[in-house]
Amino acid sequence: MPYVGEFVHYVARGTPPREDGSQAYPSACRAAVVTAVGEATTFRHDELVLDAAVLDLCVLNPTGLFFNQGVAHDPDGGPGTWHAHFGGATTFATPCPASSNVPDSRR
Ligand SMILES: [Zn+2]
Repeated sequence: MPYVGEFVHYVARGTPPREDGSQAYPSACRAAVVTAVGEATTFRHDELVLDAAVLDLCVLNPTGLFFNQGVAHDPDGGPGTWHAHFGGATTFATPCPASSNVPDSRR
């Protein structure tokens, strides 16, 4: 169960695509502090039992904070969603599902 004050990952959507399809800032995982927890549900994903809830988050971007309410859970790391990160208390040790969104130099 996610709890207030826990860190999770928020998947930033990135900046809008340019004409050539590239993005100045691509979608990437950001650290986020849980500020409120909605109704939680438990489900199975890849043989793991996970807790999901709609969360309010304070997202820690490299250049600033932003506050996002009603963020849905997505264990596959879709843009604009949250997921537990490696070693997080909300799940068993799982690799970050959105790690493919992170440039090689930042892994
Ligand atoms: Zn992540």
